Amino acid sequence: MATHKKHGNWKPATEAVRGGQMRTPFQETAEPLFLTTGYAYEVPEEAEARFKGAPGYTYARYGNPTTTMFESRMAALEGAPCARATSSGMAAVSAVFFAGLRPGDHVVGAKAMFGACRYVIEDLLGRFGITSTMVEGTDLAAWRKAMRPETKMLFLETPANPTLAIVDMKSVAEIAHEGGARLIVDNAFASPALQRPMDFGADIVIHSTTKYVDGQGRCLGGMILCREDFLNDHLQIFLRNTGPTISPFNSWVHLKSLETLAIRMRAHCENALKVADFLAGRKEVTAVLYPFRPDHPQYALARAQMSGGGGVVTFEVAGGKEAAFRLGRALELIDISNNLGDAKSLITHPATTTHSRLSPEARAELGVSEGMLRLSVGLEDAEDLCADLAQALEAK
Ligand SMILES: *Cc1c(COP(=O)(O)O)cnc(C)c1O
Repeated sequence: MATHKKHGNWKPATEAVRGGQMRTPFQETAEPLFLTTGYAYEVPEEAEARFKGAPGYTYARYGNPTTTMFESRMAALEGAPCARATSSGMAAVSAVFFAGLRPGDHVVGAKAMFGACRYVIEDLLGRFGITSTMVEGTDLAAWRKAMRPETKMLFLETPANPTLAIVDMKSVAEIAHEGGARLIVDNAFASPALQRPMDFGADIVIHSTTKYVDGQGRCLGGMILCREDFLNDHLQIFLRNTGPTISPFNSWVHLKSLETLAIRMRAHCENALKVADFLAGRKEVTAVLYPFRPDHPQYALARAQMSGGGGVVTFEVAGGKEAAFRLGRALELIDISNNLGDAKSLITHPATTTHSRLSPEARAELGVSEGMLRLSVGLEDAEDLCADLAQALEAK
């Protein structure tokens, strides 16, 4: 097998369709799905050489050609030297921490993060003698103050779930590097089509490819993008021996999904902005958070870091939980679901779902109110979405 075309200096749209492709002697146009656990050798010498590091595959936990294509294509889109796929976004997050940290190390994280990431940092890492400090991600002085000599990793999500706060990646990367630490960015909400954290100094980028990379709510997947030093010193040996391996089928679905990522993201962004503007004009709505609306608290930063505002709109209805639930019950088109990044529009009430594990005080600190709803705007016609929201806002 060989890469099928000489790799030129391709633009992202070309990489998304062609990057990383390998063809078998059948010369198939679409990327093949390799469902195999093992690989055979012509002679024992070949097995011996492979185990000494000669190119090729030995076992599915160590690698799969379909997964290699998915990794190469993601690396090209993120502008990253190395990429390793994992079974889920959380497998990617956990692997980065457990591979790269030792007892006595310290992690600084932005408070507004995916709930499971917070559990891994605060509860799990703590059990192994790794301490952490949570800061307000938009407060650069707080990041600086949290740094200690033993700080090894800084972790943030931008835009963050569910308030869509934008964190200044370049400044936090500088703080990390001054302290000899690595900056890790969870890029699930923006996807590489809208934001490339490594361009702003991030050392490691992680993804839940379950979300916008898949884009149709079908398969779990994750990705770790990093440089050779982290891969060789920490990650490779960890992944090989602990086995958070992605199914080749899921790799194949997500590899093919990358071909349409940029055009889907453009459509998500257009729809989300229309829905955000519509919501902002409604008397029942007390707040709208969308990174590409000029009233977003970090609008200028969002414009500097992202090429589109993303597909998620967060808003608050007057009347707290009761009003939020009433709206949910009345929706006829938009589904109630805590997933996001689907072609179908999905809405969730963070206080009672994704953020229900937090104390009311912790929720208040993050700005997650009882009347807040997070809407993952899909690819339906924006007029139909606004009409559904209008009738649901008016429901008694
Ligand atoms: C969904 C999500 C994750 C976790 O990914 P899974 O694929 O569900 O394991 C992590 N971070 C963010 C921002 C997410 O949205």
